[in-house]
Amino acid sequence: MPAASRPFADCPDADLAQVVGVLTDIDDTLTHEGAIEPEALAALADLRSAGLPVIAITGRPMGWSEPFARAWPIDAIVAENGAVALFMRAGELRIEYAQDDITRTHNARRLAEVAQRVLREVPGATLARDSAGRVTDIAVDHSEFARLDDAAIAKVVALMQSEGMNATVSSIHVNGWFGDHDKLSGARWIVRRLLGRDVEAERGRWLYVGDSTNDQRMFEHFPLSVGVANLMRFAAQLHTWPAWITEGERGRGFAQVAQRLAAQARDVDVVARIGGEEFLLLLPGTSRDGALRVGERLLAQLREQPLNAAGSAHTVTVSIGATQVEAGDADTAAVLARADRALYRAKADGRDRVVFLP
Ligand SMILES: [Mg+2]
Repeated sequence: MPAASRPFADCPDADLAQVVGVLTDIDDTLTHEGAIEPEALAALADLRSAGLPVIAITGRPMGWSEPFARAWPIDAIVAENGAVALFMRAGELRIEYAQDDITRTHNARRLAEVAQRVLREVPGATLARDSAGRVTDIAVDHSEFARLDDAAIAKVVALMQSEGMNATVSSIHVNGWFGDHDKLSGARWIVRRLLGRDVEAERGRWLYVGDSTNDQRMFEHFPLSVGVANLMRFAAQLHTWPAWITEGERGRGFAQVAQRLAAQARDVDVVARIGGEEFLLLLPGTSRDGALRVGERLLAQLREQPLNAAGSAHTVTVSIGATQVEAGDADTAAVLARADRALYRAKADGRDRVVFLP
């Protein structure tokens, strides 16, 4: 193991307790041969219960990402190297683009023209088989189903660049796109859009997990970066190592990270008694959805654990009012008053529930 990466087991709890969200690669970090590993799926559910948002970021096409965005307990998938985001809202899949409609329509025409030029001018070149699901880039297959030699790959890259595109070579495809977006800009965009948080301002509080050479930029950017064990297969080509490396490969490695994060996530919370039968919970760095999930979990735990008194079991329920501190709040009392209104709403609506008032 290189000196630059240390065993994830040695990562201090205090660092993990600061984490407000997880950014992760998909292929060979959560999945094996294109299918999510059961350990990774369970780990995503654990992170959700702990109130930690997870954003998956991939160079894969929008169409490829769609079923996963629907099925996985995840906040969003950012696909096509930062160009498009897929997320669920009220049971519906939403798709949003980093570029505006006019730019995208214009680029779509140019992408098709460049694709035709590559096929015409580079002998043996074929478009990647996942091209139908791509909306903001083109991919030329060099090693997935087709074989292009280094000279042909270089010619494809040069041709794309001469047309003003960004071009990268992955282990299987040459990808080309118009615009300055990348995985990092995609992460910044969707975290701000969905969670209202600033990834740059909180750089040390976002944990990134990846497995390959194309994760190096993220490893470099995020101080809390973790490689799953299969990253070692790229040891010879890697120039930037993550801070930490897991013992387990792929989904099992991701699950090791998730377990420790979930255990730490709520250690920052403060519980205080503020009345005869009223308690106050402070959940620092928690989104509205995260607070609702913590509330739901409390309700479930209380329902399942009857109170034993004087030889008989009593089911106890609670009513929870939740709110979040806003920039315009004059003082703590204003926030508490809002939480109190939410609490009375929860009681009025039938108790044993959590109500959020913004
Ligand atoms: Mg990968």
